[in-house]
Amino acid sequence: MTHPLDHQTTRLNWDFDNSYCQLPSFFFARQSPVPVRDPKLVLFNHSLSEELGLSFSQTSEQLVALELSGNQIPLGAEPIAQAYAGHQFGHFAILGDGRAILLGEHLSPEGKRFDVQLKGAGQTPFSRRGDGRAALAPMLREYIISEAMHALGIPTTRSLAVVTTGQPVYRETSLPGAVLTRIAASHIRVGTFEYTNAQGDQNLLQALADYTWARHYPDCANAQNPYLCFLETVMDRQASLIARWQLVGFIHGVMNTDNMSIAGETIDYGPCAFMDTYHADTVFSSIDQQGRYAYGNQPLMAQWNLARFTEALLPLLNPDETEALALGRAAVHHFPERFQRYWLSGMRAKLGLFTEEPSDKALIETLLSWMQNTAQDFTHTFRSLGSESLANQPFFQDAAFTDWHSAWQARLSRQPQTPEEVLAHMNAHNPAIIPRNYHVEEALRSASEENDLTRLHQLLAALKQPYTERPEFKAYQMPPPPSPEAYRTFCGT
Ligand code: AMP
Ligand code: MG
Repeated sequence: MTHPLDHQTTRLNWDFDNSYCQLPSFFFARQSPVPVRDPKLVLFNHSLSEELGLSFSQTSEQLVALELSGNQIPLGAEPIAQAYAGHQFGHFAILGDGRAILLGEHLSPEGKRFDVQLKGAGQTPFSRRGDGRAALAPMLREYIISEAMHALGIPTTRSLAVVTTGQPVYRETSLPGAVLTRIAASHIRVGTFEYTNAQGDQNLLQALADYTWARHYPDCANAQNPYLCFLETVMDRQASLIARWQLVGFIHGVMNTDNMSIAGETIDYGPCAFMDTYHADTVFSSIDQQGRYAYGNQPLMAQWNLARFTEALLPLLNPDETEALALGRAAVHHFPERFQRYWLSGMRAKLGLFTEEPSDKALIETLLSWMQNTAQDFTHTFRSLGSESLANQPFFQDAAFTDWHSAWQARLSRQPQTPEEVLAHMNAHNPAIIPRNYHVEEALRSASEENDLTRLHQLLAALKQPYTERPEFKAYQMPPPPSPEAYRTFCGT
């Protein structure tokens, strides 16, 4: 509670330095957020605000709500909507921020640069027929899942706050409206490069590429061909990111090129969800009827997106078209290898393997096929492997599993690490707690329908330390009760 006599600053102490606005106006439209009727702060991420060097404690909730709803433009902000294109389910379209306003770039006390964006902040020149708004439940959902990803150690945009607008948004029904404050390394997407290359002006393309590698991958300045270095670094970050998703069973749901960040962060949480029962064909999104973005397809789709990125960069790779194409082809061609390397090393860690043997891949694949054939819970199975009660698991009676288990034990005995070291390694790589769909839905339902945030706060607390088993959060470790219906997610626009 704030006291009327306490000293209060009237604004958050942002330190804006808006470099994106220095690019040619082709890249954005100046646009202020559209004020909302009755902004109320419902969630605020105190630990993130500390990392950013923001002093929330000095500022009243009402004032924070004014800034993070877009009703009051923070000092130093230069609000814009960014222009971009994208391949959506394989089809090219010119898009742009239709419901997000970039306030600017905040510099943390350590000098790190972060985009500060209000999602659901009203119409922009890119809104087409959309209302520019967002509903409360999907914004809370993005908050929960992005913060869970962060706690799992996976690169992601973060969520600073959710503010309700006091205005309804109309989807199939009328829903409470909300604005999410998203913090990102940047919002430059594969689609930003596609948009620029489609213009056919090499100066613009070079301006964007130079800006982006200098901001995210400054070491490319030392490379013989900085653009090739840029391309390969982006590929590497994505290979590592998608491997991290696969290792925890995260399914993004809309891996369109406009939802792939050049900085290598997980971005645009729509119909994403974590897999419970392991199956490579798992899809949650109601709009993904062909399974394009199914769990097992994610590495392939990442490569497809990066091929679009490569095409957009071709004019910069080499003045000679044939040379440029050869460089681009080689980079795309090597993506599966990069991915495999990250995936294999992550899977080894999940199984407690410190050393490398050629048969490790087969060992992992045998476990995964057994999980798929017998419909095991992905997270629970991996976490159980290291637990003392493994022999009490129902699946321990399965002959196929016990065969695999003996092979795994034999493999463990061929490395020098002690059982304690193996267990610690496994527990640091196999989360006990993930944001399970049934818990997320329950928390969202009681928050948006009953105005009760108790479950939401409990879930967020559980997700903060996913690798640690704590008795008070036992319920969050359990696989969901069997359900006759497949879980479905919606785009949440
Ligand atoms: P998303 O599915 O959130 O990645 O959005 C895809 C595109 O549609 C982006 O250009 C968004 O800005 C735009 N968009 C999504 N929802 C809305 C909305 N309610 N109003 C206007 N534009 C939107
Ligand atoms: Mg998007």
